[in-house]
Amino acid sequence: MNPLSPPARASSVSRRNFIAQSAAALAAAGTVAQLGARSLGADAPPASDRKLGYAFVGLGSLCMNQLLPGIVQCKHARPVALVSGHPDKAKQQAEKYGINPKNIYNYQNFDSIKDNREVDVVYVVLPNSMHAEYTIRAARAGKHVQCEKPMAVSVAECQQMIDACKDAGRKLAIGYRLHYEANTLACIKAVKDQEAGKLQLIEAGAGFSIGDPSQWRLKKALSGGGCLMDIGIYALQAARYLSGEEPIEVVAQTFADRDDPRFKEVEQHCNFQLRFPSGVLASCVSSYATGLNRFVAHTTKGSASLDPALSYRGVKFRIQRPGQPEESPNLPDIDQFAAEIDAFAQCILTNTPSQTPGEEGLRDVRIMQAIYQSAESGKTIKL
Ligand code: NDP
Repeated sequence: MNPLSPPARASSVSRRNFIAQSAAALAAAGTVAQLGARSLGADAPPASDRKLGYAFVGLGSLCMNQLLPGIVQCKHARPVALVSGHPDKAKQQAEKYGINPKNIYNYQNFDSIKDNREVDVVYVVLPNSMHAEYTIRAARAGKHVQCEKPMAVSVAECQQMIDACKDAGRKLAIGYRLHYEANTLACIKAVKDQEAGKLQLIEAGAGFSIGDPSQWRLKKALSGGGCLMDIGIYALQAARYLSGEEPIEVVAQTFADRDDPRFKEVEQHCNFQLRFPSGVLASCVSSYATGLNRFVAHTTKGSASLDPALSYRGVKFRIQRPGQPEESPNLPDIDQFAAEIDAFAQCILTNTPSQTPGEEGLRDVRIMQAIYQSAESGKTIKL
């Protein structure tokens, strides 16, 4: 099967549906705590039983459909505050999650959250170009910060976010949920251990068909870019975590049908090739016009793959060893958002570093800027 062809089940028009659709048939086979322990490593210090209070900023699709339902499953975190431009929606969500209505903020009075001792962590779930401002304001209010991907829309902003958290003595983590997902971790380990031979090439595809032309994802000032910033970042992440290396060179192409009302400001497709120091090459494709949801590590004697690779549930690791039928271990399919939040809460409680700190978000933003530079100039960019 051509790994670049979209799997049939990844072709819906709704991003939420696309990502969620592989979940339905799969029941959770493990607990969040098990994955948290797994992703933190067996030698992680024991966390206290205290649940950290989270404030969510921006009550959109991800927050209401994934993060709030996820955090209620957490062992070390609970929702205690909401920040929204829509008080009615905030009130309704507060009621649903048992949040005290006095802990509802808006974007104007957000800074007064510094006086709220129930809030330990602020989770920024806003359009990309607002991540820097709210991360910095949260850090200055003395809160730890979890921020959605992409970290920000420029390298300078990422650095300011890192500096603000450092200056405030607070931790910063980026919402890279797949770093806490068991199948993804198993695939990374299989490639690292050369279970199917030495890594040669990586193919990574991430895409979906975007709907409403008026949404912020399609406005450059709010998104910072098109499919690359939003979904292509998963292909970039895959190339980096499957190779275990940092790329040294990138060459890229973008395309946008400017007659399509969705692609007046941002790219519709972005394909890029990365070269790593070992000689491994990664071919990455991303799109806002077709479904792509598969990562493959081609090795000297077989392959290791994730298919689906970035769905909210049901990510599947498969390994092809020489002379053997493809195997797909039966690994836990847990709530990735609960796992990601619990892992960060444990880092705070035990004062250990996050696996997905601001520096990790900055690396991706730097490479994505180089990808855009290559696409614009037609040149290979050294990293
Ligand atoms: P939505 O458009 O669904 O929600 C964004 C929310 O931000 C809005 O509901 C609104 O909340 C608030 N907001 C404040 N100002 C604006 C503005 N000018 N325009 C639009 N919204 C505004 O986006 P998502 O929830 O899908 O995405 C939010 C972030 O999460 C993005 O950075 C995205 O990349 C990331 N994300 C990550 C995913 C993952 O798998 N890790 C998946 C999906 C998204 P309110 O009405 O409460 O003020």
